[in-house]
Amino acid sequence: MKIAILSRNPKLYSTRRLVEAGKAKGHDMIVVDHLKCTIELEKRSPKIYYNGAYLEDIDAVIPRIGASVTFYGTAVVRQFEMMKVFTVVESQALVRSRDKLRSLQILARAGVGLPKTVFTNYAKDIDHVIDSVGGAPLVLKLLEGTQGLGVVLAETHNAATSVIEAFNGLKARVIVQKFIKESGGADIRVFVVDGVVVGAMKRQGKEGEFRSNLHRGGSASIIELTDEEETTAIKAAKAMSLGVAGVDMLQSSTGPLVLEVNSSPGLEGIEAATNKDIAREVIRYIERNV
Ligand code: ADP
Repeated sequence: MKIAILSRNPKLYSTRRLVEAGKAKGHDMIVVDHLKCTIELEKRSPKIYYNGAYLEDIDAVIPRIGASVTFYGTAVVRQFEMMKVFTVVESQALVRSRDKLRSLQILARAGVGLPKTVFTNYAKDIDHVIDSVGGAPLVLKLLEGTQGLGVVLAETHNAATSVIEAFNGLKARVIVQKFIKESGGADIRVFVVDGVVVGAMKRQGKEGEFRSNLHRGGSASIIELTDEEETTAIKAAKAMSLGVAGVDMLQSSTGPLVLEVNSSPGLEGIEAATNKDIAREVIRYIERNV
């Protein structure tokens, strides 16, 4: 098979590992920079021009689209779909997963547990917003943030009020969320491929940090999931229609609560923590479908 990885940088760990895993199974692997793809549209004849030639005979694509280039990246994925190329992450699912609020709405509708979340159109009644998530401390998240940037813990009612007012004044959209204290600065990343959990790790934030993102200095270790955690992760990936998903959740006193579902989850942390060949699972998923 000829498999294209849509990635801006062939040197990135995840990209390298996918190339390696595909080659190990005898496939022809190429890395395509989606930002250098030209989309050509005409009645019933979608084409992609790349590096001086048209991309042809590609059987499957693995999108690794960064959050900052979601618009163009998904347009390229959609073009591959129009060319009848299998994609491990569909363009629609990719777009949905990049919208934090929409994702939480989809997950809530599907019956997936989440920390209570409130979103307003810069409402003036801030006391009500704070009360509806159980009061301070509470968590504020910029709608546009990634990798833990733009996630703020407001410790007191006064702090929460002034931070919400400041964001409102800047016309920055934020979601307000109940702070899940008992998760203790840790979260769980569950890697789901084709409706099956292929790896899971626990990430612990550094001392004094409530955010467990590895980019913020957190550390990862392997974890055995409870049945409920496993079911929740699978349900979340399914609700988001993602063939490959990184489901992030908190362990709370009322069971697992999903924070977000990532559509281009990195392989480095999870392969290191679990010592598993997760890239091979992605290639196997393609083999079953093409
Ligand atoms: P990002 O998408 O920027 O990583 P997240 O919503 O995943 O943002 O939040 C970053 C980290 O902050 C999470 O991994 C978790 O450790 C912590 N966190 C987020 N929301 C909550 C919450 N409601 N209660 C407790 N901790 C949280």
